[in-house]
Amino acid sequence: MSILLDGKQCALDIENLLKSQIDLINVANQRLPKLVVILVGTNPASLSYVTNKAKACNRVGFLSEIIQLPEDSTLESVIEEVEKLNHDDQVDGILVQLPLPKGLDAKAVIEAIDPNKDVDGLHSVNVTKLVMNEKGFVPCTAKGVVTLLKTYNIPLQGAHAVVLGRSQLVGRPLAQLLSNENCTVTICHSKTVDMPKHTRMADIVIAAIGRPKMITRDYLSEKTVVVDVGINKVDDKLVGDVDFENVVDLVKAISPVPKGVGPMTIVTLLQNTIDAYHLRNGN
Ligand code: NAP
Repeated sequence: MSILLDGKQCALDIENLLKSQIDLINVANQRLPKLVVILVGTNPASLSYVTNKAKACNRVGFLSEIIQLPEDSTLESVIEEVEKLNHDDQVDGILVQLPLPKGLDAKAVIEAIDPNKDVDGLHSVNVTKLVMNEKGFVPCTAKGVVTLLKTYNIPLQGAHAVVLGRSQLVGRPLAQLLSNENCTVTICHSKTVDMPKHTRMADIVIAAIGRPKMITRDYLSEKTVVVDVGINKVDDKLVGDVDFENVVDLVKAISPVPKGVGPMTIVTLLQNTIDAYHLRNGN
């Protein structure tokens, strides 16, 4: 039987550590960490993600605020909002929920965020720091995956990790982070020829392709540790990129969907926010 990489439990344990940090801040009568999320438009999926982030802040005792801007906002008005938050001393983390409505240049908005408040780790300053293996903010899903692997003592140094997907948000930062952890990294994508040939050789396979249950036992071996980042809605049910039932008795370890990487992403946002708080307080 394979080991279950329980992201929900791991996230809960980290939340408890964060709560004790907040207790100390309260005892010292200091200002609490604050995350502000900007949501442009009314995309229901985005609204639900944003609400979950605010609820997570609430659970651990952070302050949070959701700023909702109209669907037809101009680039200038969104950037103006970001700049107000950059200059607000009470705000530690700024997150602009993506995707933005069509016509709004997401890159321009992200580049307007103060890199020291960029808790999503998407600003070019933080992307460069990740590439240079320097301390900075790392995108939450990528960092959450590595935290999950470390929590279960999965050896990273020298391991062959195959990352499926190369998006700016997940695949690329994850591949870089694993390389920084001294893994030997292969990146597969939609143009890769014979993907199972690569994945079957891997110690760690991380699936972030958005293709429901595509990764079956043909891709894996008994030595594989599998992390499933995918979140796909099929018949009103959430499924990952990995065919969990098909592979669970084969692989060494596997994360489920739901209750795998999802909770790790959210708790990493909280970690990044408290890091931003300490950074701004000079700790
Ligand atoms: P994305 O921007 O659509 O990128 C998908 C990547 O997968 C691309 O690099 C694409 O290759 C590759 N790909 C697509 N079909 C493929 C195939 N048949 N074989 C090999 N590679 C293929 O998606 P994303 O934002 O990275 O998200 C990926 C998945 O993770 C989605 O299901 C998303 O919902 C989920 N997600 C989960 C969390 C979480 O917290 N758990 C967070 C973010 C995303 P090309 O580059 O060649 O197009």
